[in-house]
Amino acid sequence: MDYISTRGDRERISGAQAIVRGLAPDRGLYVPTSFPDIDVSADFDAAALAGGGYRGIAKLVLAAFLPDFTAQEIEACVDGAYDRKFDAPDIAPLFSITKDDAAGRPADAHVLELWHGPTAAFKDMALTILPYLMKTAARKTGEDKKIVILTATSGDTGKAALAGFADVPGTEIFVYYPKDGVSAVQERQMVTQEGGNVHVFGIRGNFDDAQTAVKNVSGDAAYGAALAARGVRLSSANSINIGRLVPQVAYYVSAWARLAASGAVGPGEPVNICVPTGNFGNILAAWYAKQIGVPVGRLICASNENKVLTDFLRSGVYDRRRDFVLTDSPSMDILISSNLERLLWHLSGGVAAGADGDVRRMMGGLDADGYYDAGEAVRQGLEDSRFYGGFADMERAHGALASLWQGQRYLIDTHTAVACAVMRGYWKETGDRTPVVIASTASPYKFAGSVARVLGLAEAEDEFAAVRQLFEYTGVAVPEGLRDLESKPVLHEQVIEREGVRATIDAALAG
Ligand SMILES: *Cc1c(COP(=O)(O)O)cnc(C)c1O
Repeated sequence: MDYISTRGDRERISGAQAIVRGLAPDRGLYVPTSFPDIDVSADFDAAALAGGGYRGIAKLVLAAFLPDFTAQEIEACVDGAYDRKFDAPDIAPLFSITKDDAAGRPADAHVLELWHGPTAAFKDMALTILPYLMKTAARKTGEDKKIVILTATSGDTGKAALAGFADVPGTEIFVYYPKDGVSAVQERQMVTQEGGNVHVFGIRGNFDDAQTAVKNVSGDAAYGAALAARGVRLSSANSINIGRLVPQVAYYVSAWARLAASGAVGPGEPVNICVPTGNFGNILAAWYAKQIGVPVGRLICASNENKVLTDFLRSGVYDRRRDFVLTDSPSMDILISSNLERLLWHLSGGVAAGADGDVRRMMGGLDADGYYDAGEAVRQGLEDSRFYGGFADMERAHGALASLWQGQRYLIDTHTAVACAVMRGYWKETGDRTPVVIASTASPYKFAGSVARVLGLAEAEDEFAAVRQLFEYTGVAVPEGLRDLESKPVLHEQVIEREGVRATIDAALAG
């Protein structure tokens, strides 16, 4: 099993090389040429898997996708990442909704809490381990250059990447966030980050602008060569890096194993998986989990008003020519979902079918015209994969959040609320009663102002007051990483234009 670019560069490289590179030289994304030859539901006993704990499952999944890493290397990475930094011993616990809530569901919705890491969002699941994978990969590939990690963020990736890479020797981390597109808590988390190798900038524009600006720099071959001459290699902590995606597969395996071990799903019986989606990384990891044998029924892709993916999954036409809507689930305010490119490659038949040509055509169309028609093979593949696309506007998402609190005393954030609202619509529309795993992507305190508003609390003075207010009202514990934010000194204040990314790198490397 090797990795290859989605866009036609035929060089087959190892997992370690793909992690160090991030983006492929032809600007494609690295994908596995085949899926690991394991079938978790057939080859492993669910109870034994679940009994080995989260770390055990993560080791199995990483070893399967990164066969070039030794068992000792995998072990060191996993044990270094998934430790006391997480405030839940299970790392990714499940909350099962045990009686009818206002959505009218019986006992088979299981919320997979992915936000128990240091920055209180699901990005920690991969970004606590990526620095370990990156360091190990650099050593394995004989990389002698300094690794400069460029990261565009819609809010949550930035802090998680900063926390993961701060003061990691041999690396320098740069984060760019849309100045007016993140929550006050998210911004404060990033601009207070300490570390001798961390650089944080606001960008004027939205997330797509930030992501495109960063991709333009990391995909600039001439600039890359100039940096290489100065002993620098650019890489990425965005989910375009395969080292982000692979660790995410583990929590879907873990969720299935625990549900199967507890009898919540019968042997071999499928679960549906519902994911609040932005860049399509998290739900692609669920699709990868399915490829290695997790019995998955439907993959439910939940969007907010920026419902480009809902439309795509229903029509096979991807069309970003529409207004960008700012919602209170900002990490999903995205019109260019970069990880979809990987799925397009797989569904177009991969290496054997020369899928790179199709992907180049589609991505070219998206760049030049703002849309593409994915064609018959992909449409068929989406159907065979049993994708379902749905979206919820803010009113419906708020309704789901409020009713879960009122009915269950269970508090979710505004992104998870989009997923719960889409599930309600799905149940109504289909009557499908397959148990569902709903990915919960952030602590409600990360979006405290919005959550407090939904619960009808008085308007707080600012986001930090909202955290206190929400705690007083609900009694739900505030994650450690969010507790003392307000008093931390602001260390990064620079705001740049979209064209200014290169200059920030040159300045920092010179200085
Ligand atoms: C990043 C993020 C998402 C979207 O995840 P993708 O992998 O980009 O689809 C959803 N919710 C939250 C809270 C996030 O931080």
